[in-house]
Amino acid sequence: MNASNSSLRQVVLASGNPGKLREFSALFAPLGIELIPQSRFGVSEAEEPYCTFVENALTKARHASHHTGLPALADDSGLCVAALGGAPGVYSARYAQRQQGGEKSDAANNALLVRELAGQADRRAWYVALLVLVRAQDDPQPLIGEGVWHGEIVDAPQGDHGFGYDPHFYLPEQGMTAAAMPPELKNSVSHRARALKELLAKLQDF
Ligand code: IMP
Repeated sequence: MNASNSSLRQVVLASGNPGKLREFSALFAPLGIELIPQSRFGVSEAEEPYCTFVENALTKARHASHHTGLPALADDSGLCVAALGGAPGVYSARYAQRQQGGEKSDAANNALLVRELAGQADRRAWYVALLVLVRAQDDPQPLIGEGVWHGEIVDAPQGDHGFGYDPHFYLPEQGMTAAAMPPELKNSVSHRARALKELLAKLQDF
């Protein structure tokens, strides 16, 4: 069945981030799907206690669906570094905080990352994004899109765009970091773009 014929007219977005709402809304609108932020239903942010992106995204989507009775979409993402055994992974947002305490901060995360990789020849890293759509809280077959974006960690930050680890995430193919990329370019090739493409393809066939 095509998504435009399905019962997916309104989907709750399990995120309080206005940037995500804007970005995802524009991409789901052509399918006739309206995204509504969970805050509009008074739904609080769910805990993310798991060690995999997919479990955390699924938990957030289920939580939003449980509290609203509507289908729900959630995402989870992070940076994995080969020489660190896949860390910081699901802890990307609070990488430095977990080790050193203090506030969550991109600057502290990046400083720690550079320190941990000092003298390390293997610079391979990849961003991961998981998108999960549940039709109901007990949906036995959630739709899952996964996107992976490979790059390398550089010590010297480059670029003013993006957020998080972008100034240190270098793409050899483009010859620049993710933070040096024009946002439209990053948005078309990133891990999130790839995850969304996979999810939308599944949705078309649903
Ligand atoms: P969230 O899934 O939006 O909560 O992102 C988790 C964390 O992963 C962010 O706080 C960043 O530290 C990192 N991250 C995820 N995607 C990106 C990205 O596109 N650029 C830079 N950092 C990212």
